[in-house]
Amino acid sequence: MRVTFLGTGTSQGVPVIACPCDVCRNGTKKDHRLRSSVLIETDKTTMVIDAGPDFRYQMLRANVLHLDAVLITHSHKDHIAGLDDVRSFNYLQKRPMDIYASEFDQEEIKREFSYAFSDNPYPGVPSFNLINLDGEEITVHGEKVKILPALHLRMEVYGFRIGDFAYITDTNYLPGTTMAGLLDCKVIVLNALRKREHVSHYNLEKAVKVLEFLRPEKAYLTHVSHLMGFYDDIEKELPDFIHLAYDGLTLEL
Ligand SMILES: [Zn+2]
Ligand SMILES: [Zn+2]
Ligand SMILES: [Zn+2]
Repeated sequence: MRVTFLGTGTSQGVPVIACPCDVCRNGTKKDHRLRSSVLIETDKTTMVIDAGPDFRYQMLRANVLHLDAVLITHSHKDHIAGLDDVRSFNYLQKRPMDIYASEFDQEEIKREFSYAFSDNPYPGVPSFNLINLDGEEITVHGEKVKILPALHLRMEVYGFRIGDFAYITDTNYLPGTTMAGLLDCKVIVLNALRKREHVSHYNLEKAVKVLEFLRPEKAYLTHVSHLMGFYDDIEKELPDFIHLAYDGLTLEL
């Protein structure tokens, strides 16, 4: 299995439009972050987790030629805004795109992309096959995916575990069942927004605490804000097994 970080930034990305801060002005390649998403390629299937506003460019940048499914963590704009661009895969693969989302998130997707769900759709609109994230596990094109619910303040978000890889973003609370589901996982990706506390995201200190408790072989922090500081500085502060993710980072499992 190969995992590629397509984007590792928070909702505005880094640099932030018109921001005069040092990270936005003088950041190097690893400080430039598109909105958070990962590409997962196994011998059975190719899927992405989330399709935010940068989805089109992420598909081009990573040269993704085939995509079977999109797994949605939650329906905030920075995680679903790019779904319209599955059209290219619709044309090439001659089928609707399988979108795995909770019932709540499906309603949000229907509202956001209402033109795709019209009884008499305009030619060329994207075609979505919405599939429920029911129960503890789903099978995505032959690949077993465990569902790990978490909380994003009051909103339910969904993490996913495929084999020894787990990805959870936009959370500041992992319930006991999800913690238990991560205990023997070798690689965990978790969100860490910035150093200062935040109402709906783990900050750096809390994300590190959770990961030190779970103690996977490797952990990567994503959904990072420009307020976190420079990649090179944060890397030096982290425990050995924890790293800041960056766009383009690939993991082989
Ligand atoms: Zn987000
Ligand atoms: Zn900035
Ligand atoms: Zn969110």
